[in-house]
Amino acid sequence: MTVRFSLLSAGYCLNHEHLSLAGGRRVAIKFPAMVGLIEHPQAGPVLFDTGYANHFFDETRGFPGNIYAKITPVFYNEDESIARQLLARGIQPADVSLVILSHFHADHVAGAKDFPNARFVCYEGSYRKLRTMNRVRALTHAYLPGLLPKDFESRTTALEQGLRVELPEKFRPFTEGIDLFGDRSVIAVDLPGHALGHFGVLVDAAPRPYFLVGDACWHSRSYREDLMPHWLPQRIVFSDRQAYRESLHRMHELHQGNQDLIIVPSHCGEIYDALVTH
Ligand SMILES: [Zn+2]
Repeated sequence: MTVRFSLLSAGYCLNHEHLSLAGGRRVAIKFPAMVGLIEHPQAGPVLFDTGYANHFFDETRGFPGNIYAKITPVFYNEDESIARQLLARGIQPADVSLVILSHFHADHVAGAKDFPNARFVCYEGSYRKLRTMNRVRALTHAYLPGLLPKDFESRTTALEQGLRVELPEKFRPFTEGIDLFGDRSVIAVDLPGHALGHFGVLVDAAPRPYFLVGDACWHSRSYREDLMPHWLPQRIVFSDRQAYRESLHRMHELHQGNQDLIIVPSHCGEIYDALVTH
């Protein structure tokens, strides 16, 4: 089953290139918060992450969220919200059936409240770990609990309970994933290391398939050249540096054996320039 795929973007933050990429320039660069729109023939509109939204500013006005806002300058205006961009395409936000959350960093979940009828899919075990943290500790995981809707838990399907399938040879060294719709159109693939419960999705779109890798790397150069970021974000951001290193190396190997697959890191400027449609 093939689906339609578009790449959108909702706001951006600034980060130093040399921190996000070994050998990078000592300049601040834009990190667009990109979002995948998957139009499935039966399930309708499905999102991979949500980008920034106004809710982010509501949650970062007071302590401790304001620390997040100070460390990471965010640029966003309401016209860029994914909900508005969907409306401009003739899609009602209320018709979004599923929001796939690659992980719980604020720039990926800030728009979650804008899709009132959507179900969510994520690693429930990781969500439970974050949920039991106090707000300051949660912030060290870039998690702002107020960004999720109040009924989040009752609307969430645990990825742990999904249907595990073997992946075709062309996706080696990745060998298995979780088939989200039972038709192999969208398959979740573990990419651990960046954050608790981090994963990506393979999207069987025509004419070319995509691998939305979230923050498993920040730049296309990272997986092409197998380049890790600076040690500082490895220490203060990543949940497991060794697992991140392995996920990155596996993406590098995948790319070398399968150049047809378009790998989409959520914040890569090169991908933004090539693929984002407004
Ligand atoms: Zn992240």
